[in-house]
Amino acid sequence: MKLIILDRDGVINHDSDAFIKSPQEWIPIPGSLEAIARLNQAGYRVVVTTNQSGIARGLFDIVTLNAIHQKLHESAKQVGATIDAIFFCPHATDDNCDCRKPKPGMLHTIAKRFNVSLKGVPNIGDSLRDLQAGFVTGCRPYLVLTGKGKKTLEKGGLPPGTMIFANLAAVVDGLLNVPSTDVDATEPDLSTGPMRKNV
Ligand SMILES: [Mg+2]
Ligand SMILES: [Zn+2]
Repeated sequence: MKLIILDRDGVINHDSDAFIKSPQEWIPIPGSLEAIARLNQAGYRVVVTTNQSGIARGLFDIVTLNAIHQKLHESAKQVGATIDAIFFCPHATDDNCDCRKPKPGMLHTIAKRFNVSLKGVPNIGDSLRDLQAGFVTGCRPYLVLTGKGKKTLEKGGLPPGTMIFANLAAVVDGLLNVPSTDVDATEPDLSTGPMRKNV
């Protein structure tokens, strides 16, 4: 089984420092849903992990988050894309939960739920904590420069081997240019990718 794990805000949809608090505020980044459709066509199951501390802060509730995710699923469906599951952490940093990235709780849940090893599974994020959570579970880290990505790149300290792409569509271009994209495949040659860079 081919699996790919995506962060939500700043990867699939535009991020906001004021949080995404309503379905109206959830706006896909151009090309991101189409990129997910291409992953599906190539046999990937696509799973999302997202920190949503706005719930702990009382900025929105679970019902609203479900409505936001309903919009995500429906928007995806319109371009033939399917997201298998969305895992979210509703906690604040002070809650000391196991699921808020950079902790790997949501990743462990995915491994259990899908009964797979996460070794080599592409994990795409725009924040360091996304990549850290995936890295400790063996995922292959990809930074996109949408959302907080440019700031994340400037700050540095990315996990070794992090690959950097302009956006999700570019990551998918890179992944799908490889003849075999099985998670067990050897290091893909992304040298033709637009922004390949090992850090
Ligand atoms: Mg993000
Ligand atoms: Zn949590």
